[in-house]
Amino acid sequence: MSNTWEAGATPWLRRHQTNAGYGTEPNPIQCLFCGGQNVKRSSTDHDEDPGRIELYCDNGSCDAREMVLLVKRDGAHSGLRADVRALRLVDEGKLDVHAAYPPEMRSYSLSEMAKLSEGVVERRTRKPSPSEE
Ligand SMILES: [Zn+2]
Repeated sequence: MSNTWEAGATPWLRRHQTNAGYGTEPNPIQCLFCGGQNVKRSSTDHDEDPGRIELYCDNGSCDAREMVLLVKRDGAHSGLRADVRALRLVDEGKLDVHAAYPPEMRSYSLSEMAKLSEGVVERRTRKPSPSEE
């Protein structure tokens, strides 16, 4: 496999692990937190989004279970992504997420979670309209 990647191309991990989801991953990678060879693509990882990968560490002794790998700068337009912009606002102290979205404890059924994930890729990759910039 080539060690090159350009903005918009399929990330290497999605070629290395072709199926995201539950069960045993035949090609796990190393966890960035515990160092175990137990990381697989999360069931919530979306193939359509080349700038963000959701990961899951399957090591029962690792507390970093759900992880997101997000490209913040790629020489193209990653800085305009909604998730990158929101993270920047939080980091700069301009967005208080707890004030905007007070913590709420709620559980969801599987069908509710499937319904909630509809449009996720569109929401997190949507470019701002000129009036929002
Ligand atoms: Zn781990």
